[in-house]
Amino acid sequence: MVSVPGSAPAMRRAVLIGLVGEGVRASLTPPMHELEGARHGMHYVYRPIDLARGEGTDEYVVGLLDWARRLGFDGLNVTYPLKQAVVPLLDGLAPSARSVGAVNTVLFTAQGTVGHNTDVTGFGAAFDDAFTEEARGRLVLVGAGGAGSAVASALSAREIGELVIVDADARRAETLAAGVAELGRAPVRAAGPDDLPALLRGADGVVNATPMGMSAHPGAPFDVALLDDRLFVADIVYRPVETALLRAARERGCRVMSGLGMAMHQAADAFELFTGESADRSAMLADLQDLVSAEGAGTDAEVATPRGRIR
Ligand code: NAD
Repeated sequence: MVSVPGSAPAMRRAVLIGLVGEGVRASLTPPMHELEGARHGMHYVYRPIDLARGEGTDEYVVGLLDWARRLGFDGLNVTYPLKQAVVPLLDGLAPSARSVGAVNTVLFTAQGTVGHNTDVTGFGAAFDDAFTEEARGRLVLVGAGGAGSAVASALSAREIGELVIVDADARRAETLAAGVAELGRAPVRAAGPDDLPALLRGADGVVNATPMGMSAHPGAPFDVALLDDRLFVADIVYRPVETALLRAARERGCRVMSGLGMAMHQAADAFELFTGESADRSAMLADLQDLVSAEGAGTDAEVATPRGRIR
């Protein structure tokens, strides 16, 4: 590097982030962050920290958090199986994490470790991009697992007529419905998969938060013959972008929202928490579309792009 006499060489801001969980090497979140960091002129390094099965005990995670801080990590994303397990190991929780009892983003602050949940804020932002006022009546959420909990928390905090949570595991649906009913402002109840024909007849929208539709879980979460063109249909699965459910919904003339918006906004929200700088969400969405296309999962730009505003 040539240095100008009398002036210090410009230093790029260094940011070090990790993603902790099982099977995280294939995640597209690290390249999404690094590309956004590069746009900001940062030396932004985001490393997957892959846990072996059963390795994520409390003792191990406490040690990992301590070492990450001491090694200079600015923050961590955490994923399966740690999103709930890490909660009692942190010093504080942001409202997004408290609302759902799960964390996907950990910041190292002067007050200690603070957990946030950008799955909640990310789904909420994607929903606001895509879901217009007239479609905010009764919503059916299928899937009450980790991601479904974040979706339920985001939806129940919004102006909607009613949220009905359906899961193949009735107890999961009931527990989640009871939890979000306490915290959110929308009426919430649980129902079973057998209720879906009646529920969808009277609903304005349906959200898939089950793994059905992923390459590893092909097919739709329920009989797509239940769809009609009044419904807004959202999927949070985004590999592939056009799932069997979204394809059927689009063919029937439904308005659709793919899982790309949530995936992009959760990463953008985490980027902003880690760096304090505004993320370029349109550019991050374009990066994510490119990354998904590059792995051959197949995108459909019409489906992939959330309608309306990108924050
Ligand atoms: P999970 O295993 O914790 O939960 C899945 C739930 O779906 C379970 O409760 C299961 O009983 C239920 N289920 C499965 N098939 C069903 C069916 N046909 N009908 C009713 N209920 C059914 O999984 P998770 O962590 O919640 O993730 C779900 C999916 O969400 C993932 O596969 C992933 O593709 C997607 N996801 C997307 C994003 C994003 O940013 N877009 C983020 C996280 C997860």
